[in-house]
Amino acid sequence: MAVLVQKFGGTSVADPDRIGEVASHVARCRKRGDDVVLVVSAMGKETDELLRLAGDVSARRPGREMDMLITAGERKAISLVSMALNGLGVPAECYTGSQAGFVTDVNHSNAKIIEVRPERIRAALSAGVVPVVAGAQGVSLEQNVTFLGRGGSDTTAVALAKALDADACELYTDVSGVFTTDPRVVPEARRMHRITFDEMLEMTAAGCPKPAMRSVEYAHRHHVPLHVRSAFTWEPGTWVTEEDPEMEAALIRAVVSDDTEAKVTVAGVPDRPGIAGSLFRRLADADVNVDMIVQNVSVGGVTDISFTVPDGQLETAMEICGSERAAMDAAGVSSDVDIAKVSVVGAGMKSNPGVAAMMFETLAANDINIEMISTSAIRISAVVPRGDADRAVQVLHEVYELADTTF
Ligand code: ADP
Ligand code: ASP
Ligand code: MG
Repeated sequence: MAVLVQKFGGTSVADPDRIGEVASHVARCRKRGDDVVLVVSAMGKETDELLRLAGDVSARRPGREMDMLITAGERKAISLVSMALNGLGVPAECYTGSQAGFVTDVNHSNAKIIEVRPERIRAALSAGVVPVVAGAQGVSLEQNVTFLGRGGSDTTAVALAKALDADACELYTDVSGVFTTDPRVVPEARRMHRITFDEMLEMTAAGCPKPAMRSVEYAHRHHVPLHVRSAFTWEPGTWVTEEDPEMEAALIRAVVSDDTEAKVTVAGVPDRPGIAGSLFRRLADADVNVDMIVQNVSVGGVTDISFTVPDGQLETAMEICGSERAAMDAAGVSSDVDIAKVSVVGAGMKSNPGVAAMMFETLAANDINIEMISTSAIRISAVVPRGDADRAVQVLHEVYELADTTF
């Protein structure tokens, strides 16, 4: 008999029919003899809707009040799922993040888990009750309701799996696993049977939305096996696990694109020590999450520095660059939101030269201009015009023959 934490995303519980399907699945698992703990996201697009509502009411949106509002979405979902289970004769009880023992820091809208005290969940399990836990929420050390951030329900599920020493954490979603690229962009994309934590982390850092990055980090750190799978067909999906020393690493596993970043360029900066240090210190102090950075070779003693930031932080980054412009003796500051980062990921590239050359040649052959490049040991990323991103993904998926993936 296994203990399974099963997390359901918004699309999986979007309406009463879907909630019914989820409840039937849980009933089947219980009949098989497994102990199940559920973690549920807000229904459908409800989180977006609540965010929009807040914006319509006021420009002032205090974190404490926002978190109370957003977490209402999950609260609604857990009560309905729990009722559906009871309706099928499966005893179930719903729990808010706070009731489930999620203690967080006070960082509203992006709270970090400090501790999970799962006593009530354990007690429910041993009483034969299915606990239905609200995802992405907790209670802060100051006793306020907190939200763990977008995609936070994946992290709730992983943390609960660890706290309960569960056999696996199953992330049910609207695709049947982790694919070689987004199946909405490339219909020939293949589902992987398994992927290592290192590769999965690179994929999420490169922009793959599933599973949420923080949950993969947490699962990796605490050795929680992850199973990403479909809440529609219920077939086995993709296991995210530690490296298997028996298996040879694939050259390229996946192509990922991210169109949520913007580029900032500080032009005509004197090439002297300390400029980058003070600029990036100010950005860091303002919590701006800088991703790629490129500084050109200086010509005539001046150079350009370009970097990317999340779209939502562009305004702050531009304000900082503007106020630092005089101190940096820079000629100008500009930005471009019309970009996308396209990445190829694979552990095998460490020991195989030529992956970068093939990527750049393929983009060139398709007349796609590369604006920036960055690499890690197992990832190569190129910034391209946003309008070319889907085409870049398609041609790269084809040239690395990912549709023939068998692992
Ligand atoms: P949930 O709401 O269930 O937590 P998300 O909507 O956050 O799930 O993420 C699932 C979506 O991620 C899928 O619908 C799919 O279009 C997208 N996606 C992008 N890249 C990939 C990939 N490589 N493999 C699987 N899904 C991907
Ligand atoms: N409902 C929240 C969101 O959409 C949390 C989650 O689904 O993980 O981000
Ligand atoms: Mg989601």
